[in-house]
Amino acid sequence: MNGDARSLTQSTGKTALLKVQDLVKHFPIRGGLLSRTVGQVHAVDGVSFELPAGETLGVVGESGCGKSTTGRCILRLIEPTSGQVWFEGKSVTDAGKSELRALARDMQIIFQDPFASLNPRMTVSAIIGEALTIHKLTKTRAEYDARIVELLETVGLSADHMRRYPHEFSGGQRQRIGIARALAVKPKLIICDEAVSALDVSIQAQVINLLEDLQSQLGLTYIFIAHDLSVVEHISDRVAVMYLGRIVEIAAAKDLYTTPQHPYTEALLSAVPIPDPRLKRERQQKRILLQGDVPSPIHPPSGCHFHTRCPMARKGLCDVQAPVLKAVGEGHQVACHLRG
Ligand code: SF4
Repeated sequence: MNGDARSLTQSTGKTALLKVQDLVKHFPIRGGLLSRTVGQVHAVDGVSFELPAGETLGVVGESGCGKSTTGRCILRLIEPTSGQVWFEGKSVTDAGKSELRALARDMQIIFQDPFASLNPRMTVSAIIGEALTIHKLTKTRAEYDARIVELLETVGLSADHMRRYPHEFSGGQRQRIGIARALAVKPKLIICDEAVSALDVSIQAQVINLLEDLQSQLGLTYIFIAHDLSVVEHISDRVAVMYLGRIVEIAAAKDLYTTPQHPYTEALLSAVPIPDPRLKRERQQKRILLQGDVPSPIHPPSGCHFHTRCPMARKGLCDVQAPVLKAVGEGHQVACHLRG
């Protein structure tokens, strides 16, 4: 199993830090007097990818596509229904309690809502230092305080902030506190789960710049989850587009933005403003409006999950057979019967 986990990624030929294979998460729906299982929410439906150290994978899709559930299953904050996750060749999915505690130091998460994810009754020092205490990473109070100051300065805050409470900070500052909390245990992988979605556009850019600086200073690897392709464009080396629990396209960021292959990616991209006029020639300009809403993950459509909204869907094929991811270029895979 370990040998498999250390396989080379298709994208770059580098050894994978993280490997995810056929990850599935179905949430049971219970009903009736006996609270029996009466259905399943198909949140994640067979997600596979590899991520080399030092790279950023952007994961994009509309609300309910399973991107956040995928992130939480990787960390086992939610138990996956099936599938495998390996980190540095070690199985995360099969890890026992003590192995999982050790893995929790290597893999951290930053949540979307910095207002909800910081305990309002704790000082910044206590919030950032919680993991230092749990993992016994500092021996004396002076060492603890020095580490908190170092972490605050790393994220662009100062020693003055350590005795304050979360309500005294702006949204962007609170997200910096969240980043400092994640960095406290010196992780290798950080999952940024809609980490900038709740912030104003100018603040989003500042936080993304900070994350990029930290990546080059500390050699971090990111999974950057967002519902908007424009948010992940600059930070991602590769981008995976998800629809109803499945990856429908994955490619190097440049390839995905200039030559998207999946009709869903094309539709998402057509809604993204293009600031660089040189790209306008390469990227489709006409806005593609998708009909209807994303179907319920309780009863996902048969065959290709996207067929109910796809302008290119073929009856008798797309509604019957689920397409698998196929290579359409180097490190570029798409799940569509009409491509590849
Ligand atoms: Fe559209 Fe069919 Fe391709 Fe699915 S498989 S994206 S429905 S053309």
